Amino acid sequence: TVKVENLKEKLISQAQEVCRLRSELGGTDLEKHRDLLMVENERLRQEMRRCESELQELRATPVAPCPGCEHSQESAQLRDKLSQLQLEVAENKGMLSELNLEVQQKTDRLAEVELRLKDCLAEKAQEEERLSRRLRDSHETIASLRALSPPVKYVIKTVEVESPKTKQALSESQARNQHLQEQVAMQRQVLKEMEQQLQSSHQLTMQLRAQIAMYESELERAHGQMLEEMQSLEEDKNRAIEEAFARAQVEMKAVHENLAGVRTNLLTLQPALRTLTNDYNGLKRQVRSFPLLLQEALRSVKAEIGQAIEEVNSNNQELLRKYRRELQLRKKCHNELVRLKGNIRVIARVRPITKEDGEGPEAANAVTFDPDDDAIIHLLHKGKPVSFELDKVFSPRASQQDVFQEVQALITSCIDGFNVCIFAYGQTGAGKTYTMEGTHENPGINQRALQLLFSEVQEKASDWEYTITVSAAEIYNEVLRDLLGKEPQEKLEIRLCPDGSGQLYVPGLTEFQVQCVDDINKVFEFGHTNRTTEFTNLNEHSSRSHALLIVTVRGMDCSTGLRTTGKLNLVDLAGSERVGKSGAEGSRLREAQHINKSLSALGDVIAALRSRQGHVPFRNSKLTYLLQDSLSGDSKTLMVVQVSPVEKNTSETLYSLKFAERVRSVELGPGPRRAELGSWSSQEHLEWEPACQTPQPSARAHSAPSSGTTSRPGSIRRKLQPSA
Ligand code: ADP
Ligand code: MG
Repeated sequence: TVKVENLKEKLISQAQEVCRLRSELGGTDLEKHRDLLMVENERLRQEMRRCESELQELRATPVAPCPGCEHSQESAQLRDKLSQLQLEVAENKGMLSELNLEVQQKTDRLAEVELRLKDCLAEKAQEEERLSRRLRDSHETIASLRALSPPVKYVIKTVEVESPKTKQALSESQARNQHLQEQVAMQRQVLKEMEQQLQSSHQLTMQLRAQIAMYESELERAHGQMLEEMQSLEEDKNRAIEEAFARAQVEMKAVHENLAGVRTNLLTLQPALRTLTNDYNGLKRQVRSFPLLLQEALRSVKAEIGQAIEEVNSNNQELLRKYRRELQLRKKCHNELVRLKGNIRVIARVRPITKEDGEGPEAANAVTFDPDDDAIIHLLHKGKPVSFELDKVFSPRASQQDVFQEVQALITSCIDGFNVCIFAYGQTGAGKTYTMEGTHENPGINQRALQLLFSEVQEKASDWEYTITVSAAEIYNEVLRDLLGKEPQEKLEIRLCPDGSGQLYVPGLTEFQVQCVDDINKVFEFGHTNRTTEFTNLNEHSSRSHALLIVTVRGMDCSTGLRTTGKLNLVDLAGSERVGKSGAEGSRLREAQHINKSLSALGDVIAALRSRQGHVPFRNSKLTYLLQDSLSGDSKTLMVVQVSPVEKNTSETLYSLKFAERVRSVELGPGPRRAELGSWSSQEHLEWEPACQTPQPSARAHSAPSSGTTSRPGSIRRKLQPSA
């Protein structure tokens, strides 16, 4: 029984323990905690919703855009920040919902565990009841056995036998109890973990709440700023409106005043208008009658004009007839004049005193002119006055155009098939190149001549076809070179034409066809470049060489097929200064000798031609030989003697003028040229060289002039005087 008592006690204590455990497990605290958290969560959610709605409201309130305002920038920044914050809020919300889900899962699991615990407890209770029932049964059996004393021992024995059975059942239930306790401990562990998780989620919630509060404060600040800005803008706007209004009022006042002035003006104008209207009406009446008057007047005027025109017409016809006659006469006179002037003319051109002449007595002027005779020039040489008479003298005042005017007729005769030579003679620095080439702004004879040829040829273009070609050559130390060729160093030879015409030609001499001033400028430029690349000191070189520009004009009469060729030779001669025999040696002396030789040969040839000598020494120099066909026959030659006016050059000037006069004075041969023709005969001593070694009166050493019938054999000359 003691044992049974003990077992009873143990059972009771175990039941108590189970009860305690149950109360402990009851989770009322945990449940409370969870509920609290859930309530808290709900509150936070509501708060968030409120924030969101507030945000939406803020966004919905239209903010007046104020362009250019610095606040708009700031507010844009704030808006950006806001959207960022919203994003963060959304993120946090997601996290929160995750946590909520977790909490929910945990609660579910807790409920499950509780259920299981309840089941266990119920089982235990049943077991206990069964055991207590059996205990009661045993008690009853014991009592009944006590009543039956003899068999007590037996009963005890059965009790003793049954007692081990109960013991076994107890131990089983103890083991189960143990197991349940373990399970409870495990559940407790799980609960603890859950609690921890809950705590961390609580912390997170706190953090989120703090963040939300921060964002809210920021939002509030931005909102406040925006409101302030809007207010200031509103103030600005009101101020501007007020100012504009004040200004408009002032202007209105001025306009009102103006209007009043205009009104008074209008009042004064009205009477004037009235008189004007009267005048206008009167004029209108007059105008209405005007066309009739006008028609009348027009008719009479027309008749008068018609009559006048008729008179003028007849007058014009008469004048035209007279003009044509005069033109013919003028042409005749011109031809006569050229004839009278002779085929060889010598003119002088005195250049102005230049800076290069220096100062002092050396640069004093030594040249004077005759005011009544433009062919006379006076020179004061070493105190003695000397006078010369030439065909014409140009003073320093003469322009390039004046000089050209003088040679113009010569140049145009080239178109008619005459050969022409124009020489510039004189000491270095006397103006030869200036006269022939001129400057870029003020060109000389060369360019002007070509220009004239172009325009003349153009004028005749309806009846004639012309081609103009140019060549440029140089003679230095009796060597002929092509200035337009690819090999300017190459020596050129002068040959007789193989066609038996007796004309000369230079094989390999470059010819360029030219059609306009641009072309000739290009040709000149090319020739000049050739010369400058060949010689380092061009000035010095050009003063010691003869430069030739040869223009050939070939024409064909379209109706008759008649052909003419005229050659214009423009020669810038080497400097005529004499080199003192003592000062010069070597190459300089050779140069001087060559120049001397060729210039005196030229003088001799011209003199021989002008005096109509039978022998013309063309072959004495390259220059005269080359120009042979342009110097003889019907050719025309002009020598421009260039003169420096200054004192220090007087001896060279004297020499040049003497040369000029010598060349000119031979002209005065007896009788007119035409008469000469008749006196020629085959028996007369004919002296001329290779081309005419078998003398034939018709042999011609020059190109044919157009007037074929009037030309005479140019290469044959009667020897009138002994050659100089
Ligand atoms: P040359 O060719 O005879 O050696 P230039 O023609 O070179 O002489 O003339 C020498 C200088 O005198 C040049 O500077 C030139 O411009 C100038 N000159 C020559 N004649 C005249 C003139 N009629 N008017 C103005 N300057 C001239
Ligand atoms: Mg020169």
